[in-house]
Amino acid sequence: MKTALITGVTGQDGSYLAELLLKKGYKVAGLKRRTSTENDTNIKRIKNEIEWFSGDLSDLASLTEAVKTSKPDEVYNLAAQSFVADSWEQPVFTGQVTGLGVLNMLEAIRQTKPDAKFYQASSSEMFGKVVETPQTENTPFYPRSPYGVAKLYGHWITINYRESFDLFACSGILFNHESPRRGIQFVTRKVTDGVARIKLGMQKELRMGNLDAKRDWGFAGDYVKAMWLMLQQDQPDDYVIATGQTHTVEKLLEVAFSCAGLNWKNHVVQDKTFMRPAEVDLLLGSAQKAKKKLGWTPEVSFEQLIEMMVEADLRKYSGTS
Ligand code: NDP
Ligand code: GDP
Repeated sequence: MKTALITGVTGQDGSYLAELLLKKGYKVAGLKRRTSTENDTNIKRIKNEIEWFSGDLSDLASLTEAVKTSKPDEVYNLAAQSFVADSWEQPVFTGQVTGLGVLNMLEAIRQTKPDAKFYQASSSEMFGKVVETPQTENTPFYPRSPYGVAKLYGHWITINYRESFDLFACSGILFNHESPRRGIQFVTRKVTDGVARIKLGMQKELRMGNLDAKRDWGFAGDYVKAMWLMLQQDQPDDYVIATGQTHTVEKLLEVAFSCAGLNWKNHVVQDKTFMRPAEVDLLLGSAQKAKKKLGWTPEVSFEQLIEMMVEADLRKYSGTS
């Protein structure tokens, strides 16, 4: 039986990945931050099947202990301060966790279990002000937020540890991926949650930022399969994971509101509070390498994804889930 250690297991991706690995017969160890109030919404169905370790990406000793005790065959480093907008409010913390935290995890592995395979959750935000479209593994980076800069450090230190110490370390450059478990601040979930509340008469308007930004949005459940596939290859490598389709935030509004029989124009108010100091205008990824080498392709379309999320939020507020 293989063992996987997942950091960020309480988050969107961590919960889908843990479910996938348990189904494959893995023993799953999870690193969890101590919190005063339990945060187990995403993992409540499987929390008794996980071996828990208390720790924090900024605390090397806790990571070393988790690696030493769980003796993982595979480590998936999904933990991060993951919200771009907050990275301007907490730039130092974002650098310490999302950037240097990756180094802590790599050091824990190098010192304690150097044969463990390592996956780093890198991000299309590293492309930022894109220099070519579509973006591939060879596109130069130009991050536009403290988050993007921190992720770039995580990406390069992963490659550096692979080249310096021969670790089996992969960096997955994942484009935006969403689900009913997406954090409420992110634009897709903010919109689907808002649509449900408006439909059920709990709210009248939805305040939004830049409607022109374009994102390549996929389904998180599809994307965690790519993470696993990367660690099953003979050689460690870096891969772009994306759908190859991009949509504006305005299109997202149109699709989400129409799922509930509403017209977004009657409910959306633009609010500069949600504008960012620097924007990423367009993301569109090419996952050709992942298709060829991993045999990975996304299964859920943009429209199916948004409908799934609107329905889940409607069920949540109408008390049927
Ligand atoms: P989430 O924000 O849903 O989950 C983040 C996880 O990290 C949570 O479990 C959180 O724990 C944990 N965490 C945060 N800070 C720390 C810390 N200091 N020490 C230990 N754990 C911590 O993110 P996603 O699941 O959406 O994303 C997973 C990873 O993939 C992240 O690294 C993200 O940046 C990256 N990524 C995500 C993309 C996306 O579109 N979803 C795209 C590209 C990359 P807690 O529950 O305690 O808050
Ligand atoms: P990001 O790509 O990781 O920053 O993911 P988000 O879901 O947070 O944002 C995606 C895009 O939606 C960005 O270009 C935001 O500027 C844009 N956007 C427009 N209005 C909002 C809003 O109200 N909230 C968020 N989170 N994003 C918004």
